[in-house]
Amino acid sequence: MVKVTLIPGDGIGPEVAYATRDVIDATGAQIEWEEVNAGETVYKEKGTFIPDELIESINKNRIAFKGPITTPVGKGFKSINVTLRQKYKTYANVRPVKSIPGVKSPFNNIDLVIMRENTEDLYAGIEHEVTEGVTEAIKVITEEASTKIAEFAFKYAIENGRKKVTAVHKANIMKITDGLFIRCARKVAEKYPQIEYEEVIVDNMCMQLVMYPEKYDVLVLPNLYGDIVSDLCAGLVGGLGLVPGANIGDDIGIFEAVHGSAPDIAGQNLANPIACILSGAMLLDYIGEKEKAQMVRKAVWAVMEEGKVKTRDLGGTASTKEITAEICRQI
Ligand code: NAD
Repeated sequence: MVKVTLIPGDGIGPEVAYATRDVIDATGAQIEWEEVNAGETVYKEKGTFIPDELIESINKNRIAFKGPITTPVGKGFKSINVTLRQKYKTYANVRPVKSIPGVKSPFNNIDLVIMRENTEDLYAGIEHEVTEGVTEAIKVITEEASTKIAEFAFKYAIENGRKKVTAVHKANIMKITDGLFIRCARKVAEKYPQIEYEEVIVDNMCMQLVMYPEKYDVLVLPNLYGDIVSDLCAGLVGGLGLVPGANIGDDIGIFEAVHGSAPDIAGQNLANPIACILSGAMLLDYIGEKEKAQMVRKAVWAVMEEGKVKTRDLGGTASTKEITAEICRQI
């Protein structure tokens, strides 16, 4: 039995997190779920966003599955998501973006992986008001974190039969910070001559991705660009309801979809659980259950290809529960 901390989260979080648990259980994987919540829901009950039980559970299990957590915009507490990523030093945010058959989207041949640095950049949280009407944020880029994410991207490319790594930056303007990021990526690239390496400036990258996404394989980006480009890429394959993710550290994995808590559809049984379910497949890969991970992906592919059961974001009428049951049936 592998013990996994299950964090249901806020908004649509519990709906999609429990859907994922049900699909993983349907594969027969030997997982014992230890449920401990974080976020707004917990705050209302316990007066804390990250309870001690959660920290204890993650410290012990080193593997967590997480639903999205709400962060207030422009006020309030620091993001729980960012806090957990920094606390557990999950330096690599891995987000595979792949076209799914049967899904109406601008392209059907996308197969790329976003490797987002996950601990620093403008998300370091160093922000203040200098004086009324003047604010500052500090962009932190270190040699250590930039080298680690570049190493991770190249190793992933080798292990997964990928051909090219593209480093994305704005070093023409941010010469010191992004300049360091790109120098680290270049240095790592020299160690892997079998993998093609290129650099693209982030604004051009957005245009390239919208026009020729099939040209890209593994993208390595600093935190903020990685966050933004992830949603752009999600839009290219059919939306946020489809793109999974993993936060990986040296001895820890926290799995979660790219999307947020979607308060506009929360609690209505309308959320697409596929992004979360595919994050569950990444968790199965991580614990060495590769066959079961493939079972999950195949089941999702089969349901999407058949096209009879689709959630509202994909033009269908199925509820979260209906599509989850259908995926479980296909396993
Ligand atoms: P969002 O991803 O929650 O939603 C954006 C849009 O996509 C909404 O219209 C939503 O209905 C739709 N959507 C997202 N996931 C969907 C799904 N599974 N099925 C169907 N439709 C889906 O982004 P937002 O509205 O910018 O953020 C809402 C909250 O989520 C904010 O508090 C934000 O901080 C938080 N957030 C959390 C995480 C995380 O926990 N990792 C990530 C991103 C945003």
